[in-house]
Amino acid sequence: MRMKECLSYDDVLLAPQYSDIVSRKEVSLKSSLAPFEFELPVISSPMDTVTGPSMSNAMSAAGGLGIIHRYCSVDEQAKMIRDSNAEVKAAAVGVTGDYHERALALVAMGASVLCVDVAHGHHILMKNALEQLRETFGNTVHLMAGNVATLAGINDLADWGANSVRCNIGGGSICSTRVQTGHGLPGLQTLFDCSQTDRDVTIIADGGIRTSGDAVKALAAGADFVMLGSMLAGTIETPGSVIHTTDGKTKKIYRGMASKEAQHDWRGKHSSFEGVATTVPMAGPVEHILGDIKNGIRSGLSYSGARTIAELQAKACFVRQTNAGTTESAPHILLK
Ligand code: IMP
Repeated sequence: MRMKECLSYDDVLLAPQYSDIVSRKEVSLKSSLAPFEFELPVISSPMDTVTGPSMSNAMSAAGGLGIIHRYCSVDEQAKMIRDSNAEVKAAAVGVTGDYHERALALVAMGASVLCVDVAHGHHILMKNALEQLRETFGNTVHLMAGNVATLAGINDLADWGANSVRCNIGGGSICSTRVQTGHGLPGLQTLFDCSQTDRDVTIIADGGIRTSGDAVKALAAGADFVMLGSMLAGTIETPGSVIHTTDGKTKKIYRGMASKEAQHDWRGKHSSFEGVATTVPMAGPVEHILGDIKNGIRSGLSYSGARTIAELQAKACFVRQTNAGTTESAPHILLK
């Protein structure tokens, strides 16, 4: 039996370094999903409580990308792609059933990024789907795929045709995969491992990112983009109606796509479930949230004296912190 120590976001910090960056504006957050360039390395999750056309348009306006979820009919998803005005239109497909017909309809409607979206991406069905989609679309479509947790996983998906890979299994805020199955890897460790790849593949840190500080750690550990669900949940742009509670609060639903509730809504039954459903407070326009995230990430780069993500990755000096350090690292006056 092999046993390896694995670290996650709260286990580490980045040591501050000498900086000659005078203004956050000097910091560029440009990143690319070949052949497309983005100003903000943030992607919204393909979940039915996160990304529909409205979120996709807002992500695009902020310089990032939204991936239209796949938990609806082919026609409904194609219509959502039609209603997105993102320079780059992106949509998710699965690996079984109608995924190929869906991909054809989405591309016909203008999608140029297809996200092959399954819980356990290091799988023969992913291999078949990626090879089939690559054969159908050649290099005219960017293929994103995932999720994986290991170097072997990212390498295989790249070899099967993926241009970018979503990395992290079981770390999402609404995810119960590790509880149900005992499988997964701490999210930051997955990035340390996957960034060792020698393939030409873009790394997307997906799930478990709660703050702009986590996003900076993910980028420093080798990610080119972060994918967010809970940080964007509850904003005006997420699909779903506003819930008015009896105590005068406003909320929206946020749920794992493998939760019982989500499965019942999109296929009328549930099998094994690996997610939970909840409500989150309304969070206003996503533009504001993204503004805070962007400022936080830019500040983060300047603390490492880095003007670009590549420079951050080259300079980053991770240190391990103790539980006392983790407590000290967040505002703690309220704990008194
Ligand atoms: P969050 O940003 O921590 O909320 O995580 C969002 C990510 O969780 C998504 O991008 C997916 O990779 C993942 N995810 C979505 N639904 C589920 C689920 O039901 N179970 C496990 N992971 C999920």
